[in-house]
Amino acid sequence: MRVHALGYDMNGDALCIVCRHISEDAPVAEVAHDRDGVVQILCASYDHGAADAVTIHLHHVAPLLASLDLPTVHPGQYAQRTEGGWAVTDMPPEEEEA
Ligand SMILES: [Zn+2]
Repeated sequence: MRVHALGYDMNGDALCIVCRHISEDAPVAEVAHDRDGVVQILCASYDHGAADAVTIHLHHVAPLLASLDLPTVHPGQYAQRTEGGWAVTDMPPEEEEA
C-alpha cells in the first residue's frame, strides 16, 4: 500500500512515530521527515520524551496527514504550524533525532 504524504509517495507499511497526544486527538503542530525517511508527528503542547512516542504504520496516519494540507517536506526537514501556515525548516545535523 502506497500513501501520499509530505509531497512523497511512501510505503504505507513504513513505521511512523507520533506522540501519544496525537494518538489521543491533540492537534498536529509539527511534522518531521527524518533523513532515514521516518515521519514523526508531534503536538505543540507538551515536552516530549521517549515515553510519549507511539510507533504506528504510516497508512494509519495518512488521512490525518492529508487533512493537514502540508507542503512538501523533504528528508532532513520538518514543518511547523505557524499563524501564516506551515513553515518548513532544515534540521540541524546534531538534532537529527529531534
Ligand atoms: Zn504531544
